[in-house]
Amino acid sequence: MSDARDRPRGAWTRRHLLGLRELSAEEILAVLDTARGFSEISGRSIRKVPTLRGRVVVNAFYEPSTRTRLSFSLAAQRLSADVLEFSKSGSSTAKGETLIDTARNIEAMGVDAFVLRHSAPGAAAVLARHVDAAVVNAGDGAHEHPTQALLDLYTIREHKQRFEGLEVAIVGDISHSRVARSNIWALQKLGARVTLVGPPTLVPSRFAELGCEVSHDLDAVIPRVDVLNMLRIQRERQGRLNFPSTKEYSRLFALTERRLERAKSDVLVMHPGPINRGVEISPEVADGKHSVVLEQVSAGVAVRMAVLFLVVQAKESAQRSGERPALASPVTSETNRRPS
Ligand code: ASP
Repeated sequence: MSDARDRPRGAWTRRHLLGLRELSAEEILAVLDTARGFSEISGRSIRKVPTLRGRVVVNAFYEPSTRTRLSFSLAAQRLSADVLEFSKSGSSTAKGETLIDTARNIEAMGVDAFVLRHSAPGAAAVLARHVDAAVVNAGDGAHEHPTQALLDLYTIREHKQRFEGLEVAIVGDISHSRVARSNIWALQKLGARVTLVGPPTLVPSRFAELGCEVSHDLDAVIPRVDVLNMLRIQRERQGRLNFPSTKEYSRLFALTERRLERAKSDVLVMHPGPINRGVEISPEVADGKHSVVLEQVSAGVAVRMAVLFLVVQAKESAQRSGERPALASPVTSETNRRPS
């Protein structure tokens, strides 16, 4: 497995991370390699580096979030950035202010990066056209959730050391899942084979056009895959239930211990959270020996540190203002040497 020292971070020049569809394999690997360097900081006694000191990151969340929001916040703080938290509820959105007006007003306070979660597909791309700050998509409707897929890839690479030829099944509500879409783009670029599994109403055959295999039979897929990524049913994006009942769905598609008995001995069980225990995955499997669910969450902090570092660095080099000092080395910890 290559590490950050083998690959120049020059592969990354983007001011925004809007989705993985537009990234090259080299750019994806540049993020993973950078994250690898940052992951070590979590094990230090003082978990902070000065890399983004003096920079401001805005977490703008127009949709609910637990892991993504907290880990972006923590990632920015570990890089010594100042963090502003913005939520739709309690803001002037209720008074009719548009996303762009809100963002430009916040930007006028002096902002380096926006992290945006929004229910509208393409919201981050629209924001990126209206602000000078870097923009990171933290989930836009059912479109993309790039940092979730990057942390999934990071976790897979830690265990499997490769993507080429890896068999990955993504199981569940593919139709409404931004996590599935970002994973599909990235895994295929890196040489993995992706099978999408679920009922025909949630995994229509048109997904085969993306280069994936489509299956409606989880038991047939389980024995041959290296990774099982279990997804929640996105009820908030469905007008009506797309299958007869939750019980019926679980009977056919929940990952249970009995089903897992037929899997490879080193299969990885993943889930982006939030888990609906007993629906798409049994509690025993979610907490079992194959599960890397909490490792995914830990990886999320390092991956988001890497993303924030890379986009802010790209933004500053594009500006070429020369007014601000160049960013410090990503993992040098002055804070560690001189605790204040
Ligand atoms: N947390 C992920 C997302 O925001 C997955 C999910 O909600 O099911 O898309």
